[in-house]
Amino acid sequence: PLSVVWLRRDLRLHNNAALYHALTSGRPVLPVFIFDRTILDALDDRQDRRVEFIHQQIEELQTQLARMGSGMVVRYGTPLDVWQELLQEYPIEEVFTNHDYEVYAKERDAQVAGLLAEAGIPFTASKDTAIFDHDEVLTGGQTPYTVFTPYSRRWHDKLNDFYLKSYPTETYFHHFLKVPNRMPVPTLAQMNFAPLGESFPAMTVSDSLLQHYKDTRDLPAKPGTSELSIHLRFGTISIRDLARQARESGSATFLNELCWRDFYFQVLHHFPHVEKHSFRREYDHIAWRNNEEEFDKWCRGETGYPLVDAGMRQLNTIGWMHNRVRMVTASFLCKHLLIDWRWGEAYFARKLRDYDLSANNGGWQWAAGSGTDAAPYFRVFNPTAQAEKFDPKGEYIRKWVPEFNSLRYARPMVDHAMARQRAIDTYKRGLKKE
Ligand code: FAD
Repeated sequence: PLSVVWLRRDLRLHNNAALYHALTSGRPVLPVFIFDRTILDALDDRQDRRVEFIHQQIEELQTQLARMGSGMVVRYGTPLDVWQELLQEYPIEEVFTNHDYEVYAKERDAQVAGLLAEAGIPFTASKDTAIFDHDEVLTGGQTPYTVFTPYSRRWHDKLNDFYLKSYPTETYFHHFLKVPNRMPVPTLAQMNFAPLGESFPAMTVSDSLLQHYKDTRDLPAKPGTSELSIHLRFGTISIRDLARQARESGSATFLNELCWRDFYFQVLHHFPHVEKHSFRREYDHIAWRNNEEEFDKWCRGETGYPLVDAGMRQLNTIGWMHNRVRMVTASFLCKHLLIDWRWGEAYFARKLRDYDLSANNGGWQWAAGSGTDAAPYFRVFNPTAQAEKFDPKGEYIRKWVPEFNSLRYARPMVDHAMARQRAIDTYKRGLKKE
């Protein structure tokens, strides 16, 4: 009889809650990972950083396990089909996993739990991805928070060593099931992907960066943020380890960013309509212009607004964009071009190596003004003033838009003053309809 740990967005052996529970269950443990066809086959780009990153990490875990004489079952298929196979092939008695907050993931888990229940197999999910789960930080009336500031106050008050404790999985590594040979991993080619061959950001952040974070985080020309987002997305590092480091280095500002992450997880959990609709329903009435040619210019980084263009080109080239510039590019799309935030959200989802539905949706709805913590709709970012403030020497702009300041550079595709007024008028009309 075996225990299985099903890894998904927690691709590590250290300080992993579900793995710890499996390893201490009293049975040998077999890890399982499924390359989910439902997700992968739907991707348009057959070179995809995320798939490549996951693949590298799975190979790495397979190597670590092989060194211990153990291994992980890795399959490419739909989760339900793979679980049916696994039940035929292995004497599974219990399955452990970590919570995933996305709507699709919750449905998938409910189906797998149902299948396992028919076979009398318990399926236990633990908290691992977030510091606080959706039901751990609630208002006095036990309802979810819908505004960040009071949420964060409660979150910081509640945070203590208990919530950041490590799960010492290493102590129990001898409980992994022994297997005679290294177990196979489907290749990228077998899943119809080609590698990009790029390297990924380091898995660590220095205490010194965290200490200066408050002053450098808004300057896109500087390496002033952790760039850990891809690792947090796929759980190659533990959020508890990172939060502990942030606390010990005294970086309250950085810790607060991790709080935003938890906040958006719980927004998505409690208000799943945000996946398709505005958090504030009345914002669904805005008459977006949705001009496809203008959308393409924005995607390509040819708007004639240098900070917007630099950001979009950074995204298109490396699959990551600095947070300040995500805010500016998103605002430009929604307000200056009056294009539905969902178009921008979907474009970021395709391109971002750290794409996470909850944070991306939260960021986009924030920019559109339709989400939690909405700024009043008449406040419209001025992309030129933003560039002057956050990239005063134009270093970031010149890096990504080398033709800036030459005759070859595009003229602004819309006039700022006109676009600003048009946005305000259109929002006002849309919101009146409620
Ligand atoms: P750091 O500044 O070093 O922050 C550390 C970590 O805190 C990040 O890795 C991230 O996990 C978390 N974090 C920071 N800011 C936020 C935030 N505002 N909301 C939630 N978590 C945060 N973040 C994603 O992880 N995935 C996304 O798909 C995503 N889409 C976004 C879309 C828009 C329009 C906007 C405005 C923001 C988006 N963000 C997203 C949030 C933020 O921009 C990125 O987390 C950050 O830029 C990642 O770089 P970093 O790791 O260097 O961040």
